[in-house]
Amino acid sequence: MNATAEYDVIIIGSGPGGYVAGIRAAQLGLRACVIEKDKPGGICLNVGCIPTKSLIHQAGIFLSRSELERMGVAVDTGGFDYHRVYEKSRKAADMLSMGVQYLLKKNNVPLIHAAARIVSPRAVSLDDGSRIEGKNIIIATGSRPLEIPGFPFDEDRVLTSTGALFLQELPRRLIILGAGAVGCEFAYIMNAFGVEVCLVEMMNHILPREDDETVAVLERSFRRKGISALTGTRAHSLEKSGGTLSVSLENTEGNKKTVETDKVLVVAGRTPNTDGIGLEDIGIDTVKGFIPVGDYYLTAADGVFAIGDVVSTPLLAHVASREAEITVEYIAGLHPEPALDPLTIPSAVYTEPQIGSFGMTESDAQRNGVAFRKAVFPYKGSGKAVAIERTDGFVKVLYNPETKDILGAHIVGHNATELIHELLLARASGLKSGDITSMIHAHPTLSEMVLDVMRAVEGRSINV
Ligand code: FAD
Repeated sequence: MNATAEYDVIIIGSGPGGYVAGIRAAQLGLRACVIEKDKPGGICLNVGCIPTKSLIHQAGIFLSRSELERMGVAVDTGGFDYHRVYEKSRKAADMLSMGVQYLLKKNNVPLIHAAARIVSPRAVSLDDGSRIEGKNIIIATGSRPLEIPGFPFDEDRVLTSTGALFLQELPRRLIILGAGAVGCEFAYIMNAFGVEVCLVEMMNHILPREDDETVAVLERSFRRKGISALTGTRAHSLEKSGGTLSVSLENTEGNKKTVETDKVLVVAGRTPNTDGIGLEDIGIDTVKGFIPVGDYYLTAADGVFAIGDVVSTPLLAHVASREAEITVEYIAGLHPEPALDPLTIPSAVYTEPQIGSFGMTESDAQRNGVAFRKAVFPYKGSGKAVAIERTDGFVKVLYNPETKDILGAHIVGHNATELIHELLLARASGLKSGDITSMIHAHPTLSEMVLDVMRAVEGRSINV
């Protein structure tokens, strides 16, 4: 493309922030284009949310052989070939990346394959030497893996999450540095396929941002599976000797030890892609790499917005997509809410058991002096959970003792990432417990646990 084009919105990046912004802009009658230097769909579709979920799904199938064995079916895993698992995960990612191209085309949003650099608040230059002009620019350039001192990535022995997704053979032993959602999901996947996994986390429990009691259930499950989780532990350095890596660790009490492994996966954070895109030329200063934004995700430069992983809201695909909608609706002259309410952002961990949550944890409420009460319903009390042999976990709701309004909800157990949404709808729409308890829930379903936990809020439990 060499001619100068003019758009209402130029969007840089085609991840869940960028492509959603493009489509929403077209729906609202804006002329938009999306510029992408790599594969359409960004991290999420290509090397994030989707391929990990494919691997998790396949790990679950592989683990279910023990259930077949309990039925007397002998399962021979001799022909197991991880390469086929890998191929299926790539197929899912590729299919969705093509889906993004299709959706942009269907909405008449040009997808321009190029690396973009902002040259003014109204213009972007491309690496083919051309220039695009627009009334607004949305920066949705996402993030990349954060390297930690002592563990430089080589994608052979020291892997990023992308390197781990492209493994075609499994190592015998793997140390994972960082036990956030991505670290825990890889621990679950690798352990399921027989890799000896050691998970290392600096904070005092895995998934440091999740509710302590929910995490304890997952920690127990990890222990039963043989995943070793070293919490309150920092990884200092790495030594390579022949085929073996030695990782030096130190815990908060100052105890040191060395653990041997074949590969190290570092998933201790992400850093925003905000360098080399011209921010300094338009007066945008970053803070720890993130772009400061105000209402509607407007940056310090007039007409330039930033959404998704480049801003310091939670680094999640659904956050990027919602921020995209808010920004574009604002540009189109609508009046959306100016920013996301952090207490209604769901968080999801796709291990088995899963975790689905939003809002305050008990420690948040205690730390902030917020009065709360909690209602808990165990999976064991659910007919459906018993029938499908998934009785590990609970549904917990924290609520205001006076108004009974939901302050937070934390589910750990089978399908928790789906179940959380009924409670989230209640919180986001200001529904009362009675709105849920008076609604008929099909029997037997796991969703009945949401009904039951809200009955507990009303002090009239039936099934426990
Ligand atoms: P990205 O998806 O990172 O997309 C940015 C795009 O911009 C990229 O395609 C990049 O090539 C392009 N780009 C960058 N610079 C330029 C430039 N100068 N010119 C043109 N194009 C450019 N989130 C969830 O919500 N659920 C999950 O289950 C989940 N799982 C994850 C698993 C893994 C292993 C990882 C790494 C992340 C996961 N995430 C998950 C996080 C999620 O992927 C990100 O939050 C999300 O992709 C951010 O979207 P984005 O649009 O901001 O950026």
